[in-house]
Amino acid sequence: MSLRDVLIYPDDRLREIAEPVDSFEPALSELVADMFETMYEERGIGLAATQIDQHRRLFVTDVSEDRSGALAFVNPEILERAGVVECEEGCLSIPGINETIRRAERILVRAQDEKGKTFEQEIDGLLAICIQHELDHLEGRLFIDYLSPLKQQRIRKKMTKAARRERV
Ligand code: ZN
Repeated sequence: MSLRDVLIYPDDRLREIAEPVDSFEPALSELVADMFETMYEERGIGLAATQIDQHRRLFVTDVSEDRSGALAFVNPEILERAGVVECEEGCLSIPGINETIRRAERILVRAQDEKGKTFEQEIDGLLAICIQHELDHLEGRLFIDYLSPLKQQRIRKKMTKAARRERV
């Protein structure tokens, strides 16, 4: 297992649309293991392959307090959405930024696990929000895209400045 570098906004690679996963070879399990390790190291509750510059339809989550809720979603789809909920979100690719975003409260998800087995599950609460956030990454979409253009501009400026500071 090894840690992977997380792309930081406004990196253009975060805008790439991920390709379906069609082979469940051992390399995929390795990628999933690396993603879990990276997510835990960065203290995130979710990480999409896009964020480590792997443009494949896959993300991992763990919304538990004690790292007991590890889940991998390969080729995920949301089949149904119900209700509306507002929650403050952050993102490992946009460190230091937290904003309240509106999401569906309950979702019906279909995905495969890292071995290729298909499952369908109704999900609500924090995990439902996390899944919607991670699935957006696979479409090249970020949570700040839901904010007003003015707010987005401010965040872009702030993040660009931060990146410049890091280089010197
Ligand atoms: Zn994110």
